[in-house]
Amino acid sequence: MNWLRRMMYGRYGYDQLSLFLFLAYFVLWVLSLFRPLWFLYWVGAALLLWSVYRVLSRRIDRRRAENARFMSLAGPVIRWFKMRRTIRRDREHCYFKCPNCGQYLRVPRGKGRITVNCRSCGISFEEKS
Ligand SMILES: [Zn+2]
Repeated sequence: MNWLRRMMYGRYGYDQLSLFLFLAYFVLWVLSLFRPLWFLYWVGAALLLWSVYRVLSRRIDRRRAENARFMSLAGPVIRWFKMRRTIRRDREHCYFKCPNCGQYLRVPRGKGRITVNCRSCGISFEEKS
């Protein structure tokens, strides 16, 4: 493992964007097995090369800025998926989005019509739980 540490010294390494590019490569590779989509193999290969380039890059602040841009785009999507999972697993509560500020609010399930107060912006609205 010593040679690997020596090779990676001063290089950027892995981050979420590189991981995403690698996963995208894999998805495109699978899709390219369908004959009309063969060209996706080369799109995927380009993404894989980009991913490897970023990992080995020595321009650390540039790579960090790229990843920050990527995360500001992907962050809301990731949060949305996490929220969906929480909502699906939580049998005890109902979840609402505040119509004013978009904050998710949680109330006990099965209480009939209730007034929900948003903790974030303070407005109240009626919902069925
Ligand atoms: Zn609100």
